[in-house]
Amino acid sequence: METILVLTHVDETGSALTKASLEAVTAGVELAGQLSAKLTIGILGPASVEAANAAAGAVAATGAPLLAVSGEAFAQPRYATDAAGGEALARAAQASIVLAPGSSRFVRVAAGVAHRLGGFIDTHITVLSGNDSVDATRWFYRQRVEATISREARPWFLLLDAGTHAAFAGEPAAAQVEAVTVTLPTVRTTVEGLRSPMLDAQTIRPDAKLLFVAGAGWTKKQPDGQIHVAEAGELILAFLRLSGASLGSSKSLADQKTEGEQSVLPFLTHMNQIGQTGSTPRHAKGLSTCCHGEEPHVVGWRFIGERRAISLDPNCGWTRSKADVVYVADAFQVMAKVNALLEARSS
Ligand SMILES: Cc1cc2nc3c(=O)[nH]c(=O)nc-3n(C[C@H](O)[C@H](O)[C@H](O)COP(=O)(O)OP(=O)(O)OC[C@H]3O[C@@H](n4cnc5c(N)ncnc54)[C@H](O)[C@@H]3O)c2cc1C
Repeated sequence: METILVLTHVDETGSALTKASLEAVTAGVELAGQLSAKLTIGILGPASVEAANAAAGAVAATGAPLLAVSGEAFAQPRYATDAAGGEALARAAQASIVLAPGSSRFVRVAAGVAHRLGGFIDTHITVLSGNDSVDATRWFYRQRVEATISREARPWFLLLDAGTHAAFAGEPAAAQVEAVTVTLPTVRTTVEGLRSPMLDAQTIRPDAKLLFVAGAGWTKKQPDGQIHVAEAGELILAFLRLSGASLGSSKSLADQKTEGEQSVLPFLTHMNQIGQTGSTPRHAKGLSTCCHGEEPHVVGWRFIGERRAISLDPNCGWTRSKADVVYVADAFQVMAKVNALLEARSS
């Protein structure tokens, strides 16, 4: 019989599980139900047992045993301590299947932990099913080929893509974790602090409900014969601030540089690019603006639930069955109006 460990970690508050961790818990509960397998939840990273208990409250409703590796040394993401903590949790749970969020913290260490346990790892898992065997699904070749994998090797680590499962939302309850002790490895890395970009600069927000895509039209000559790049930048940033949306870009816009090799819209980089040679994010909704909706771009919208587009061109790619709703309109005017409505609502 399989023994499933869901490996989770806390967020920057130190006393709550990340959303992606809660998604992995949902996946674990579902898989354990299908396989009639034992489920354990492991928590990595709280600074104290009290903080671990607080974090565990959110998943107490699963009824699963709750293990935690906590302490100051584990409160900062760092390879040596995270790998030792993950290994200790997997050993304590005697896990044959380890499910974990594909977060930057776990992506860094999970393969190393699997190796230490003589196990195997697969990443970017989107669907799990367990009937006679455990089957894991992932996409290859830029989301064009979907494969279902099963393996004999155990323990089998599976890193789940964010947004593929609902976050576990059972009734929070008081919880008591079982502390797993870890012999501290040699620690060479000291975390001195965190430096994060200004909030405005963080335009890629995987947890946002809405993906807002800017296309090259924002930088093209407008009906008055002029270009209005500064105004475009202000409208886009204001919308991101007011809506909390994540910013995507077409390749044509991300490729544009000024003579100083700075992007025409300086807050855009190729990290924002959506499509065949860009990313394929998961958001409930998407709004495309000033973008033609060509196939190499739209292929990156595969996992966007509801698609809308604003384009001046009534024959653009979006109108050819690629968007659910197309507004044939001037995005400068529409977004100025939308921003004014959002501003009025927030004040
Ligand atoms: C191998 C390969 C890989 C590629 N990979 C990618 C990829 O990963 N991602 C990607 O995006 N592209 C990719 N492309 C490029 C892609 O084919 C298109 O060229 C690109 O997506 C076009 O970008 P765009 O729609 O923003 O620009 P344009 O085609 O220039 O379209 C601009 C649109 O803005 C509209 N517009 C202008 N002003 C306004 C206004 N005021 N209001 C409303 N609408 C307005 C215009 O009507 C026009 O439809 C790839 C191409 C190749 C060959």
